[in-house]
Amino acid sequence: MTEPKRAPGGFPVVGVVGGGQLARMMQGPAIELGVQLSVLAEDEVASAALVIPSSPVGRHTELDHVLDFARSCDVVTFDHEHVPQHVLQALESEGIVMRPSRSALRFAQDKLAMRERLSELGIACPRWAVAREAAHVERFGEEVGWPVIVKTPRGGYDGKGVIVASSTADAESWLAHVGEPGPMSDGLLLEERVEFTRELAALVARSPSGQAAAWMVVETVQTRGICTEVLAPAPDLDPGLGSRATEAALRIAGELDVTGVLAVELFEVPGPAGRPGYVVNELAMRPHNSGHWSMDGAVTGQFEQHLRAVLDLPLGDPRPRARWTAMANVLGGDYPDLYSAYRHVMARDPSAKVHMYGKGVRPGRKLGHVNVSGTDLADARERARHAADYLQGAITQ
Ligand code: ADP
Repeated sequence: MTEPKRAPGGFPVVGVVGGGQLARMMQGPAIELGVQLSVLAEDEVASAALVIPSSPVGRHTELDHVLDFARSCDVVTFDHEHVPQHVLQALESEGIVMRPSRSALRFAQDKLAMRERLSELGIACPRWAVAREAAHVERFGEEVGWPVIVKTPRGGYDGKGVIVASSTADAESWLAHVGEPGPMSDGLLLEERVEFTRELAALVARSPSGQAAAWMVVETVQTRGICTEVLAPAPDLDPGLGSRATEAALRIAGELDVTGVLAVELFEVPGPAGRPGYVVNELAMRPHNSGHWSMDGAVTGQFEQHLRAVLDLPLGDPRPRARWTAMANVLGGDYPDLYSAYRHVMARDPSAKVHMYGKGVRPGRKLGHVNVSGTDLADARERARHAADYLQGAITQ
């Protein structure tokens, strides 16, 4: 087995499979901690490959590529959840240290497995069923009411892989793929359409020793299936709901033996006697868009915390540094020259924190984000939004 190339001082090498923006944002804290990152990148110009000197190019679906890469690292973690189980299994058999583990990751990779497990644990979920044929969709629609939400169990992101079906006919093109090798091989996930009041996320980190830390519950704002803003903490959150959501996230992390950051996406729903409740939408076992605010808004940001957790170091303090932090995503538009916007954005608002990912501009693609902290939520939100809109070319002043 290739020995990991440790830096002087005995600092370990953390390998990240996938060279996206999450791996890239881990590099700042890794540099500060003296930890070496290595990234298995899709190509030389992947977001993380541009800033991490050790970025071998390889595919996360190719066993040999992942195995060769993993052998040169002390611990392996992930930029996304798309590494196939058979690849993870081979790493596990070789004794490679993976955080999160293969068995935990399954519940972030496969929404059917996630629904089954969370239901077993008694965690509140939307009513759901598995569909292998049209009759299953028909029956579920009659039971919970149309429209129903149809999801591919694996491979979806940013709302790709979710359809709102008004009738069974809307699910037919996907039903045709059930049973074929691929994301729908085991069937489709059907969910009732939840009449939620808003979307929330509970973000926690857990280490192999079992230490855990929770950031405050945030509100996530989605536009056409893509997260565009995060408000930390979620404004006017019922305190009981905040603690129950945090407890649920910590319990999921413990029961599923998650190591690293776990994001639990939630829908807030009206509950009995006017008290709000929640149901879990999905899980991500890695730093998550809902935690980008923490890079500037918390004592310990999610990327540093993920590194501490996967290295089984004591976790950092997750408490906020400010009353409010608003995060706005910068999405690709028609305007390719992002840097030319810096002068205006920085001059207008010296306390806005801009984070860019070094990615090529494509419409709707997440290219960066802006964090603004302060004592007034409406003001912080407006300033973050303005900076992001200006960067993405949606406004010119
Ligand atoms: P992805 O993994 O592609 O991000 P999600 O399962 O998070 O997909 O769904 C994307 C968005 O679709 C959610 O943020 C939410 O707005 C909406 N959605 C998903 N499931 C439901 C549901 N059961 N009821 C209502 N809306 C839903």
